[in-house]
Amino acid sequence: MATRSKSRNAPQGPSPFAVEAATLPEGKFTDPDVTAKGEERAQVPLLNLETLWLCTGTLCNLACATCYIESSPTNDALIYLTAEHAARYFDEIERDGWNTREIGFTGGEPFMNPHFMTMLDDALGRGFEALVLSNAMKPMRRHGAKLIDLRKSHGDKLTLRISLDHYTKAAHEGERGPNSWDAAIDGLKWLSENGFRIAVAGRLLPGEGLVEAREGYAALFARENIRIDAHNPATCVLFPEMDADKDVAEITTGCWDILGKSPVDIMCATSRMVVHRKGEPNPRVVACTLIPYDEEFDFGETLADANIAVKLNHPHCARFCVLGGASCSA
Ligand code: SF4
Ligand code: SF4
Repeated sequence: MATRSKSRNAPQGPSPFAVEAATLPEGKFTDPDVTAKGEERAQVPLLNLETLWLCTGTLCNLACATCYIESSPTNDALIYLTAEHAARYFDEIERDGWNTREIGFTGGEPFMNPHFMTMLDDALGRGFEALVLSNAMKPMRRHGAKLIDLRKSHGDKLTLRISLDHYTKAAHEGERGPNSWDAAIDGLKWLSENGFRIAVAGRLLPGEGLVEAREGYAALFARENIRIDAHNPATCVLFPEMDADKDVAEITTGCWDILGKSPVDIMCATSRMVVHRKGEPNPRVVACTLIPYDEEFDFGETLADANIAVKLNHPHCARFCVLGGASCSA
């Protein structure tokens, strides 16, 4: 895995969102079929490919303290996906009759990829909904005129979800680095004023409650005149934390009943992600947006190859998805 190089604007201290837990003991999340206690590990079958995520590449204008994909201005471990490669997956969806509703674009910062606007146009032109994750800073603003054209042609089929880690500048910049707040707020206001369908993705500080956080975002949006309902979990998505080095329970087949959850509620029951790793001839399909580098979660080059059950053999499966209850789609 590539190491993140620090950019000029990288945050200097530890992340304000750091997970407070003991170190993960050896032996957990090793055998794909059996947990450290010898119990049968849970699996999630692919029920329907509702959302196909395309990772546009890891390059980003920021170098956030806990970026799960290790993006930065210099990390190109995942190279820019091309519009031709994206089109291959759109063709496969259409040819094989996958009932896919949405194409999600994530990075890195998608707007830094020179092919991005072409693939976004292609996805919307084929009738898919598009969900674009962005930090709404300079790379997005460079494409303002084209984005307005796409909104005029496709209306609410295009959603932009902006990462605003916290409703306070101090916590947001503690994670994202100096000078990252004003530009993000400006970008959000521009999207709001221009009638885009928008959402934000935020996080909770250790000990912070959901009610408190939603009220904080609501006050910010009212103050800045940003058209987002902070009390709607679909438009103000508050994610649980991830830290693959911290201890968490392994998920067994017995957990579903105990937790009152079902495999169908987990992201990898309805989505996959395409990544193009540096040095590999073609993009690959991985289980989900959270685990782009792990071979065990790499299912091959085609969507047909990736039509298999996911063994929940990673700490993110437990902390973020099953116990945290996160879902990534619009
Ligand atoms: S903006 Fe997003 S992709 Fe870029 S470094 Fe921050 S978390 Fe990672
Ligand atoms: S982290 Fe694990 S459970 Fe969550 S979507 Fe990815 S593979 Fe599935």
